[in-house]
Amino acid sequence: METFNELKISKQLQYAITDLGFEKPTPIQARSFSVIMSGTDMVGIAQTGTGKTFAYMLPILQDLKFSKQVHPRIMILVPTRELVLQVVEEIEKFGKYSSIRVVGIYGGTNINRQKEAVAQGTDIIVATPGRLYDLIISRAIQLKSIKKVVIDEVDVMLDLGFRFQLTNILELLPDKRQNIMFSATMTDDVNVFIHEFFIAPVTVSVAVSGTPLDNISQYAYKVENFYTKANLLKLLLQNEKDFKKVLVFVPNKKSADLLFDILDEFFGSEVAVIHSNKTQNYRIRSIENFNTEKTRILVTTDVMARGLDLDLISHVINFDTPNFPENYMHRIGRTGRAEQEGTAILLYTQKEEAAKNAIEDLMDFKIEELDFPKEVEISKQLTYEEQPQIVEINNPSNVEVAGPAFHEKKEKNKKENQGGSYKRTIKQKYKKPKTRGDKNYNKRKKRK
Ligand code: AMP
Repeated sequence: METFNELKISKQLQYAITDLGFEKPTPIQARSFSVIMSGTDMVGIAQTGTGKTFAYMLPILQDLKFSKQVHPRIMILVPTRELVLQVVEEIEKFGKYSSIRVVGIYGGTNINRQKEAVAQGTDIIVATPGRLYDLIISRAIQLKSIKKVVIDEVDVMLDLGFRFQLTNILELLPDKRQNIMFSATMTDDVNVFIHEFFIAPVTVSVAVSGTPLDNISQYAYKVENFYTKANLLKLLLQNEKDFKKVLVFVPNKKSADLLFDILDEFFGSEVAVIHSNKTQNYRIRSIENFNTEKTRILVTTDVMARGLDLDLISHVINFDTPNFPENYMHRIGRTGRAEQEGTAILLYTQKEEAAKNAIEDLMDFKIEELDFPKEVEISKQLTYEEQPQIVEINNPSNVEVAGPAFHEKKEKNKKENQGGSYKRTIKQKYKKPKTRGDKNYNKRKKRK
């Protein structure tokens, strides 16, 4: 492995690296450095935890000459506000010995303050596409000096529906620029995107996605249903000694809230939840508390957790079994980082067994099955999705049991099919129907 010395990086960056305690570049850093320095477009396939942020920041900062000019020269696009904050923080650590100016741009906060920050002059802008686009069209940001654009976590960005903003932003950038992209997975969507905007990119790929990580022990429990999974989880989490810092993945925000309510009753302030319907402050606070180990358990959806730099996770619990095997890889990759040992536990139902098999096929590895503990109560209670649908005798199109296709439907489509019984449950829980909230959620999502 090369050393940082071999990369011939500047004194200022060397000092910062020494401060951070990094001994040698990670594989993605070693391999991206010369590609990015050469000025060609680059596609990096690397997951969070591989050191990919510094993989693009090192050569960018190495190349960035001191300047007093107002307009930004580097643009870094990331999918979530949390990531903006994280990347800004990393750049600040690196820029400690040089006078790098960096501004973070993200939605959900005062736009005028961000306009003022940009107007003061900046070298680097780190932004989510939605808010950045708002600032560009209001002419608060000038793009003419942009020399390099980094699009990080492109797969997540496209999943979140940012294609429109992303395309618009790229079309407004100067033609003569370097494009750098990082994605954890190579999907058709990502491929189309590369073809549209990149010129003869060099691909740098580390660890073929789907390779099980050596320092993660993987176990699986076959469990009856959602509430029984919750009972099992409660038992596991009582072992505070081993389950020191636990990330619990759920498939969507509805499950996140449901599970959080159950765990909250039992574990109180030891548990927090993040998903896209929580306010930004709440999310930031939850992540901070989890990082500083004020909370031991964090319940999260895939999109919220991806890209977050969470250290020393002892356990990743897959409360559901992801339909896309690669999402399982992303989830478990949040533990066992930086040479630490980690444990991943998968809770799967009969219906999820096929998804589990697909994961094992991808990894070419059989997850060790553990016996379901006798002391855990098997719940007969079913969630709405688990319940057989009510059959209207005169309606031939009704199906008797909610099959897999039903589960695959998008949240908003599900709502349309949910008859009286769902509304009654929600009404009971919240005292009034919640349909309005969901409409607003969709609006917010578009605006991001
Ligand atoms: P990332 O994949 O960019 O989210 O980085 C994951 C973590 O690895 C971050 O906490 C970095 O501080 C850390 N890191 C990055 N580069 C190195 C390195 N060369 N040696 C040790 N740790 C690193």
